[in-house]
Amino acid sequence: MNDFKYIQPENLNDAISALSKDSIPLAGGTDILSLAKENLLDSANVVNLKNIDGLDKIEKTNAGVRIGALTRLAAIASDVFLIKDFTILSEAASCVASTQIRNVGTIGGNIAQRPRCWYFRGDFDCLKKGGDFCYAEVGKNKYHAIIGGSPCYIVHPSDTAVALLTLDASLTIASKDGSRDIKISSFFVRPDVDVTVENLLKPGEILTHINIPKLSNKFQSAFTKFTERGVWDFALVSVGAVIERDAGNIKKGSLAFGGVAPIPWVDKELNKKLTGLSLNEDSILKFSNEVMKGAEPLEHNEYKVKLSQGLVVELLSKFI
Ligand SMILES: Cc1cc2nc3c(=O)[nH]c(=O)nc-3n(C[C@H](O)[C@H](O)[C@H](O)COP(=O)(O)OP(=O)(O)OC[C@H]3O[C@@H](n4cnc5c(N)ncnc54)[C@H](O)[C@@H]3O)c2cc1C
Repeated sequence: MNDFKYIQPENLNDAISALSKDSIPLAGGTDILSLAKENLLDSANVVNLKNIDGLDKIEKTNAGVRIGALTRLAAIASDVFLIKDFTILSEAASCVASTQIRNVGTIGGNIAQRPRCWYFRGDFDCLKKGGDFCYAEVGKNKYHAIIGGSPCYIVHPSDTAVALLTLDASLTIASKDGSRDIKISSFFVRPDVDVTVENLLKPGEILTHINIPKLSNKFQSAFTKFTERGVWDFALVSVGAVIERDAGNIKKGSLAFGGVAPIPWVDKELNKKLTGLSLNEDSILKFSNEVMKGAEPLEHNEYKVKLSQGLVVELLSKFI
């Protein structure tokens, strides 16, 4: 493990200035601890964000809901307002790992966590670490990407990011230049754009809030996830759905997938096909054949195509 200095700022401005110099922000630390043990933490300073006031609240606003990035996953999973009005997010948060991790891990850290690829976490000089080879492409790739992978076949590990994408959330990011809001749909970075990072956060930037627009009561949402080992496990595939109903049909809908691509995955063409879909078994089964149409599975992960299709059937059937 590399040496680092531990800094505990008391407010956002001090945290931002501490982060301007070769530093990494620390929230719950559940991922950072693993990164440190795996020699992947090479920053000189670790800046604890937990003493900053006001970043751990769930606030109902006129526009929807504003969630502080330091809000723990357990608080999101059990918040009565979120359970009722943003079901998909509380369902996704309640699927993350174990109670112990949800009690410590935060939603900001969940979105910004690093990938779990065993070549990245292991002693391999892979593309993501500046090497010139993705070992997963020809190696043990059962858990890797089936779509959008090239040149690096990690899958994005966050369950809550899948839910936030379907909810069209935006993220507030603070830096020494002030605050900016960006849509979560532009936050994640594909490996063909920059293989060394997974999102747009730059050194010196802190994710402060997640903003989710209000949904009228015509909307319904749900999340599902398939794992090999129950709790403690990341998704082999996860799917989130938000739909607006018009009697027995979907008027408008949005699906997002986890565990299939280096970023939480949205297929805009697939989502267009949700419009007008009759909520009955036959139509849903037919629609599911369109899921992962552009997939290019690796040697050991073709099962994720059928799994994604099956989970879409399971999820949309909840709305019948
Ligand atoms: C055994 C195990 C099983 C797990 N299973 C799942 C699972 O099923 N589903 C799932 O989604 N996740 C899973 N996880 C991951 C876990 O949910 C994350 O480790 C956790 O959510 C990270 O939150 P944290 O607050 O501890 O982040 P930290 O470890 O503190 O930080 C994680 C990363 O985010 C950055 N960061 C954190 N907060 C901010 C911020 N506000 N602004 C900018 N950058 C920030 C940090 O610099 C770091 O790079 C699992 C983890 C473990 C150890």
